[in-house]
Amino acid sequence: MHRETQILHTTVATEPFPALTVPVHHGSTLVFDTVEEFLGRHTRFYDGYSYGLYGHPVAKALEAQIAALEGAERTLLAPSGMAAITLVNLAVLRTGDWVLLPDSLYGPAKAAARSLLEPLGIKPVLYAPGEGKSIATRLGDRVRLVWVEAPGSFGMEMQDIPAIVAAAHAAGAEVAVDGTWASPLGLRALDLGADYAVQALSKYVSGHSDVLMGSVSVADEARFRRLKDRSRDLGYGVSPDDCYLTLRGLGTLAVRLERQARSALTLARWLSGQPGIRGVLHPALPDDPGHSLWKRDFRGAGSVFSVLLEPAETGRLSAFLEKMRLFRIGASWGGLHSLVAPAQFAELRSMPSALGEGELVRISIGLEHMDDLRDDLAAGLTRYRGEGEGARATERWAAAE
Ligand SMILES: *Cc1c(COP(=O)(O)O)cnc(C)c1O
Repeated sequence: MHRETQILHTTVATEPFPALTVPVHHGSTLVFDTVEEFLGRHTRFYDGYSYGLYGHPVAKALEAQIAALEGAERTLLAPSGMAAITLVNLAVLRTGDWVLLPDSLYGPAKAAARSLLEPLGIKPVLYAPGEGKSIATRLGDRVRLVWVEAPGSFGMEMQDIPAIVAAAHAAGAEVAVDGTWASPLGLRALDLGADYAVQALSKYVSGHSDVLMGSVSVADEARFRRLKDRSRDLGYGVSPDDCYLTLRGLGTLAVRLERQARSALTLARWLSGQPGIRGVLHPALPDDPGHSLWKRDFRGAGSVFSVLLEPAETGRLSAFLEKMRLFRIGASWGGLHSLVAPAQFAELRSMPSALGEGELVRISIGLEHMDDLRDDLAAGLTRYRGEGEGARATERWAAAE
């Protein structure tokens, strides 16, 4: 045998390696011992392994973990949270169907409804996130799917998931819930009757700002198979290494989220007393308009909330955010580091909102010590108000604790 052939055909018997962690298998091609097995490989599509794109052991382990957390029968991974949203849309909707979207939905998902679904003859219809039972008036023969996101992106509007589910099911429509904010630890959408529980695992679950991954969880095999078929049509796949990183992140999800959510709520409470702040949007705050829904339906909170700012001179927002020592300006969240993301709220919404217009800053709290984050925010707000760096904010902090 020539040496180049030998390189390719030498096999070393593998011994069992009883590691505590999930072993990472790389592989696109899988090989079969018999002609019959090869020709029948499609029978393994939903459960076994037939080709690397259609599943591998690390993905299977992660899917099983997410399914258990979501209280789901099956979970399917997607290459990003956005890919998971698109997967649900394309698995459920057909030409002529309508889909209802809350105005508070994740921005790129709202945009894709127009750029991807509309040209396919699927009609997206926006509804106000505050609608609960009243959504029944918007349903009819043509609405096949209703999206829910709680709380909403940037505006943090809560939605009455059970009321929307009841109305949708009565009208023959399915409901998909994007529950990324609270993670499956804080919100089990399937328990509330939703048909699809979507997560951007890129956020808290992977948790270290280094993975893009999404998941869709369902309560029955038939829905899972429709999703899996569509996932194959789209050529979706997830890398074993990314699945491994996500599993590693999942192991510490509960402690990270507990700590981050606690810091976030304390800081949100403190910020509501600060001059320059017009309002703090966080459903776990008792005076938030969505608080009773949050209390009823959620078992925990995320660490992302928003603040509405009092108007200020041009340039003050940049002075506030660009000079922060710990908070970085960035769009994604759920990792170890604290972030801020400014937005013109009115530009994000197509419908009138009780939150009005003006500057909004979304704040994502990481694992830094809360006191250091508060000092950074206090100094930033001082700059926003155009005052000298004062001690006043810190004094209020002592009172809030
Ligand atoms: C980030 C996010 C997504 C998209 O996740 P990606 O993995 O970044 O594509 C979807 N929904 C919500 C609520 C998000 O915050």
